[in-house]
Amino acid sequence: MTSTETVSTIFVPYGQGRGRGLDQAELGAHGVEVDRLVALGLPVVPGLTVPASHAASLAQPDVARVAVDLLQQLAGRKFGDATHPMLIRLLASTPQSGAGVRADLPGLGITAASAPALDEIVGSEEAIYEFFAAIIRYVGEHGAGIPGDDFADAQFTASSHAERVEKFLELSSAAGFPFPDDPAGQLARAAEATMRRWASPRARRLRRGQGLPEQLGLALHVQAIRVGAPETCGYGVAESRDPATGAFAPVGTFRRVISHMAADNRPGEPLDNLPGGRELLASALRTLELHMRGAALVEFEVRDAELALLAARRVERPAPRTAIRLALDLAEAGVIDDVTAVGSIRTSDIETLLHPQLQLTGRETEFAHGLPAAAGAAVGRIALSSERAVEWSENGDPVILVAAETSPGDLPGILAAKAIVTVRGGLAAHAAVVARGLGRPAVCGATAIRIDRAGGTVTCAGQSLTEGELISIDGSSGAVYAGAIHVVPPRPGGDLETLLRHADRVRRLGIRANADNGRDAALAIQNGAEGVGLCRTEHQFLGDRLPLVRRYLLAADADEEAAALVELAAAQKEDFLDLLAATGNRPVTVRLLDAPLHEFLGEEAQEVNPMLGLRGVRLALMRTELYPAQARALFSAWVDLAAAGVTPELEVMVPLVALAGELASAAESIHRAAADVEARTGVSVPYTVGTMVETPRAALIADQLAGIAQFLSFGTNDLTQLTYGFSRDDVEAQLLTAYTEQKLLPVSPFASLDPDGVGALIRTAITQARKVRPAIKLGICGEHGGDPASIELCERLGLDYVSCSPSRVPGARLAAAHAAVAVSAPWPVNAARE
Ligand code: PEP
Ligand code: MG
Repeated sequence: MTSTETVSTIFVPYGQGRGRGLDQAELGAHGVEVDRLVALGLPVVPGLTVPASHAASLAQPDVARVAVDLLQQLAGRKFGDATHPMLIRLLASTPQSGAGVRADLPGLGITAASAPALDEIVGSEEAIYEFFAAIIRYVGEHGAGIPGDDFADAQFTASSHAERVEKFLELSSAAGFPFPDDPAGQLARAAEATMRRWASPRARRLRRGQGLPEQLGLALHVQAIRVGAPETCGYGVAESRDPATGAFAPVGTFRRVISHMAADNRPGEPLDNLPGGRELLASALRTLELHMRGAALVEFEVRDAELALLAARRVERPAPRTAIRLALDLAEAGVIDDVTAVGSIRTSDIETLLHPQLQLTGRETEFAHGLPAAAGAAVGRIALSSERAVEWSENGDPVILVAAETSPGDLPGILAAKAIVTVRGGLAAHAAVVARGLGRPAVCGATAIRIDRAGGTVTCAGQSLTEGELISIDGSSGAVYAGAIHVVPPRPGGDLETLLRHADRVRRLGIRANADNGRDAALAIQNGAEGVGLCRTEHQFLGDRLPLVRRYLLAADADEEAAALVELAAAQKEDFLDLLAATGNRPVTVRLLDAPLHEFLGEEAQEVNPMLGLRGVRLALMRTELYPAQARALFSAWVDLAAAGVTPELEVMVPLVALAGELASAAESIHRAAADVEARTGVSVPYTVGTMVETPRAALIADQLAGIAQFLSFGTNDLTQLTYGFSRDDVEAQLLTAYTEQKLLPVSPFASLDPDGVGALIRTAITQARKVRPAIKLGICGEHGGDPASIELCERLGLDYVSCSPSRVPGARLAAAHAAVAVSAPWPVNAARE
């Protein structure tokens, strides 16, 4: 360097970096950040950047002197000024923020002579000495190699901060490195220490560990700290959004101290007390939000009641409520479009908003862990039987039903319980399907749990709990905790609905719900479902109705069977009236009985493999009056409702078909029932007949089925079970957990649709079916209908709609919008989102 003028060219005042053609590698993340703030017209603390390629030269005293002069000009202050003094903050930054060793030295420029007066101005006893001691130690340790233990010993024997400074100064002098008594000298030594530390083997190792280049450049930044009285000065942190509501309402605190002053333990003050008012801060945050397209977080200082920003960043993962409000605000301001707003919200955000959550501290230990079978959280007393669950809940006690597995007979207990825990069973097993349908949290397949019903205990990994003790469960993570953990209730709020309406405009896929009764259907419609995609009629025969269906199934002769059927049909008509009334003038797919006999008959089913036995259409072919009776009940209910002006679009669905002949026979009996009802009532009920595609053979002969069916609905629970040969009730908890751990499978195929095998069958079926009936309606009603990744696959496959449990409908609406964007975008959108 030849002259002060030449030297000064290496300094880049805040805001001029990009203008001088410097990039992030030279300016460091902080240099780029302040450039951006200045470009936005925001007030920034006075400062200079020494670009990475020149950073080492700041260790030269003459260079440091130029920096100090420039800084004094920028700040309009002088060192040693009795009323408006200043100090220097030296910090360092790499191209990526947060990489490498953090260097941040506030308080350069303090001398033994100036310290008492400075302390008096800031009104904080010894705070200046605290800064002073920290700088002397940093420079001594990292610049001069004085052992840290020597400083620690000196600190130990000092009785005040001022005495500590004295001892540190003595220590530095004794080691042959007297601490400079002028700001420029101190800055040069601090810069030298910082660069040495950056080049140290430890720092290099750290960079290697972080996957960063060892030779990574380091830019230095020199800021002016304008010291002032506490009445008009302070330092704080503020965020643009109120986390309680998500609305734009800056929240934060400030303290009447110099920025980064560690010694001050006084609590922060509300922004309302900010010297100079909070308006400027609010307007800075608003500007930043619009620019960053996200919630903003700033560090700021106020000097003589004037605001200056020290740092600003985007809040990376705002809380769900904030994320949604923000997306809507930005869309309203025209900064982003609706598609971007919808794309910025994760489906997991919606789950968080719609379901209760456990308020975990991170210190809880799990009692047991299972599959996250139904989202939400609950606390309740352990009940080991359905009867106990009903009894205790009737007494006003919250209960959690803990069972080896559940069967249809447990429905009263499931209804009474706040949540369900099962030892066996997977995501598509009875307990999980029913819990999800009811919106109850559930943990299934917690295989380490041992239940001793006689002894009234539940044991897991050596810990034992007694029936009646409290447990807490998290159905979104699969965790079970002993004792009561606070449950935060869901608060979806109106913003969610607004966002989902945007999503509805973006998505192509229709969204229906699996609803078995009027209550479920009403909830589904309230959640935005466009119809019912699956009513499992067998679920109408659970609980109190179970004896009816048992009587029918176990009838000894034709007369007994016919009598049972009359009762069954009468009960069924009541249920259909409820369901259809709640569904209104929307499509409703009613599936005729598909009862794996063991679910209703238990041991009496006498089938070794009930899931592959006398189920669905097979039973109907053995008991030929069953489907006509159900269909008559359905059509009669429709006639009654139509008289009141409600005309749902009936879709009658036949389950577990593997042969075209099975479907033809079932369809014929449905048509017969319609003719009977017309003969009796004079009303020709409009309906369509379709079938589930849930056996691989059905998928492969979809062309033959489409010759008969006006719609196909993919039953991917059974289709997955039968394609893999994985029992949906048995393999999930143990086998699939091991398979995913061993990376044989990325995820359980019961949770997320398998694109290669099951997906290939669906693709084949779609192609075949459309060849025969181009306008055939195609949907999915397996549990995958509520899973975001599966919904994307359904979009790619070109299905018309997905159907999922009512509580998953809002998430499915969003996921379908994401899927529409992902499929039309030339890049994988979802990968970035999740
Ligand atoms: C299916 O198999 O995907 C289906 C929806 O039917 P269920 O779960 O009742 O067998
Ligand atoms: Mg099925």
